[in-house]
Amino acid sequence: MLRALFKSLVPITHALTILGRAIELPQSIFSANHCQARMRQLSLLLTTSRVCPVPQDKSNGIRRDKRVRPKIFLVCSLVLILLVSMLFTGAGSGATGSAQTAKYVVFREDDVAPKADFAELQAVNQVHIDKNVPVTLGIIPHPYPTPSGNQLIEASQTFLDYMRSLTSNHLFQFAQHGYTHLDTGPSPQGPSEFYGRPYAAQYNAIKQGRDDITQAFGVTPTSFLPPFDKSDNNTLKAAQALGFTEYSTAFVDVNMNQGYKEGIKVDTISIELGNNSLQSLENATEQWLNNPNSINTFIVLYHPSDFKAVDGTVNATELKLLGDYIDYLQGTGRVQFTTLDRSVTTTGNAAVASSSSNGTTAVGATDATNGVADVPVLGAILAFSLAAIFTIRLRTNKNSRKR
Ligand SMILES: [Zn+2]
Repeated sequence: MLRALFKSLVPITHALTILGRAIELPQSIFSANHCQARMRQLSLLLTTSRVCPVPQDKSNGIRRDKRVRPKIFLVCSLVLILLVSMLFTGAGSGATGSAQTAKYVVFREDDVAPKADFAELQAVNQVHIDKNVPVTLGIIPHPYPTPSGNQLIEASQTFLDYMRSLTSNHLFQFAQHGYTHLDTGPSPQGPSEFYGRPYAAQYNAIKQGRDDITQAFGVTPTSFLPPFDKSDNNTLKAAQALGFTEYSTAFVDVNMNQGYKEGIKVDTISIELGNNSLQSLENATEQWLNNPNSINTFIVLYHPSDFKAVDGTVNATELKLLGDYIDYLQGTGRVQFTTLDRSVTTTGNAAVASSSSNGTTAVGATDATNGVADVPVLGAILAFSLAAIFTIRLRTNKNSRKR
């Protein structure tokens, strides 16, 4: 912030220094006969100011200053207006769309587990790698009824090795998607692993799953995604008590789009990729982007199984849909890609992505560099410029009094 401010002030200081020299020139015009330069245009003034001598006329200085001062002030004002208008124009051109109202897209990939469709899991993750777009992986820690123990480690060495290889890639956030992802019993509210269960049972299940993920991958999840997008207040409380800071579910599960509940930040699902065509995805996105009252995060849900073709192979059409949708999002120039925990933000494959895709840039920090900071910087520049002009005027008055 400070560095940006100083950087912005450098050309202004330069301009004002030159201006300061220029202000002394009119006195020489009226007092020194050997200098023929006149104040016809600013460029001429700036050039001649370097060669004209400082005026030595003492007898007629006050009278001449009275004639010169309005002109000096006029020149100062014009230069200042020009300077400020240039700055505002520049800030505007670099701060269109996304800069003024930052919008974020989160891809949420559910049902990542040893029993997931492995080829599809790899293929869809590869799209994210190729496009430089992050994704939040909803991991099911204990998907099989038996055996007990850590199934993330014991069920599939291939899966374990692959997931461990992703931990070093900042594009992948490891989140927890329930514990067993099994419906605990019929309920009128629909299938759920947690809904209606006692707090202690929910707490223990979530804790076991969290510990399994930590043990298997060396990553402790901070985002919790209840299976079937169905939970209750005890689920939120248990997750919060276990250190989770983000919670993502369906709107109807929490009756809010985005906000805080039981001390956890809640982001709800906006759309499911698998149920939509590219056109309907674009329409929903446009609606979100163009609604001034919409929340700042658009969550797109899919599962590895969504990318499985009827004949059991990887569905290339569906993979292309994801790629095309990412291209569309990037093409709008109005969104950034992030994860539920906001640990990484990118703009996709655009050249500017590298500065914010290092795995440490938080969304808040991105906001600050995208125009929000322009207002105080420009305000400071304006105040600085005005102060400089008044100082110059005071000095001019003082000098004229001396003379
Ligand atoms: Zn699920």
